[in-house]
Amino acid sequence: METNLINLIQHYSDESKCRKYLEALKWHEGIKCPRCGSAKISHIEKRNQYDCDECRYQFSVTAGTIFHDSHLPLWKWFLAVYLMTESKKGISANQLKRSLAISYKTAWYLCHRIRKAISETTDKPLLNGIVEVDETYVGGKYDRRRKRGPWEKQAVVGLLQRDGTFEAKTIKTPSKKVLTDVIHKRVDTNATVMTDELAAYKSVNHRAEEWVCGDVHTNGIESAWSFGKTHAHKTVFKRSIVGSYHKVSTKHLDAYLDEFEWKFNGRENPYLFRDTLIRLLNSPKLEFKDLTEKSA
Ligand SMILES: [Zn+2]
Repeated sequence: METNLINLIQHYSDESKCRKYLEALKWHEGIKCPRCGSAKISHIEKRNQYDCDECRYQFSVTAGTIFHDSHLPLWKWFLAVYLMTESKKGISANQLKRSLAISYKTAWYLCHRIRKAISETTDKPLLNGIVEVDETYVGGKYDRRRKRGPWEKQAVVGLLQRDGTFEAKTIKTPSKKVLTDVIHKRVDTNATVMTDELAAYKSVNHRAEEWVCGDVHTNGIESAWSFGKTHAHKTVFKRSIVGSYHKVSTKHLDAYLDEFEWKFNGRENPYLFRDTLIRLLNSPKLEFKDLTEKSA
């Protein structure tokens, strides 16, 4: 079922409906004890818990997940996930606070928890085929102590596979070495890497071999960037990141980039809402202090 606000309200309007849905997502192959693996399970309906008939272990669908311990009802979580995945430009904690009638702190926490779950990517396949690389800058938070000081800028590199799979991450500086490292880490050695805007690339004066791994094909790099789909992707990326997140602290920028990546790569996935919930179910708990730590 494709998710929209109407069927979200119809199907997930209360706690037990949401819980049932999470159970269906988590135990779609049948419920099993997380401790001993037994399939002989009794339901303790009153407490939303399950009891293993073999080892007596008691568990629930949210145990050990980020849904657990939050005082927020599940249907508010569902709405938050919907609003975040639905909004192409991203939703601010302030907006979420108003929409869900929750405190700012809760809204902020919720945004970051969902983002964190989204960013916990496991084994992303290397990009292949023709991969375009582009760097941009995203403005950081205005530093009040500097008064009229400049916006702190953060360099970001984007990698776009021609079929539309996109990745972005912050980099220390868009130097040739840093960019080459990113490409070596994230791009298959058989791929053709294209770029024309990198200052670092310009410094090697179109010696494109520097940027191409495997089959050398360097014709038309300029036109590839300027025309067609790829150009639109780049524009969407820059507008979204630069437009919506220009006040984002650079500390959390990678999480925002991951959110953008998740939504961008899922832009034609009618089950993005469901897939995001699955991520949340599989994501370990995240404590408030982990989010607010300086190193985070
Ligand atoms: Zn058991």
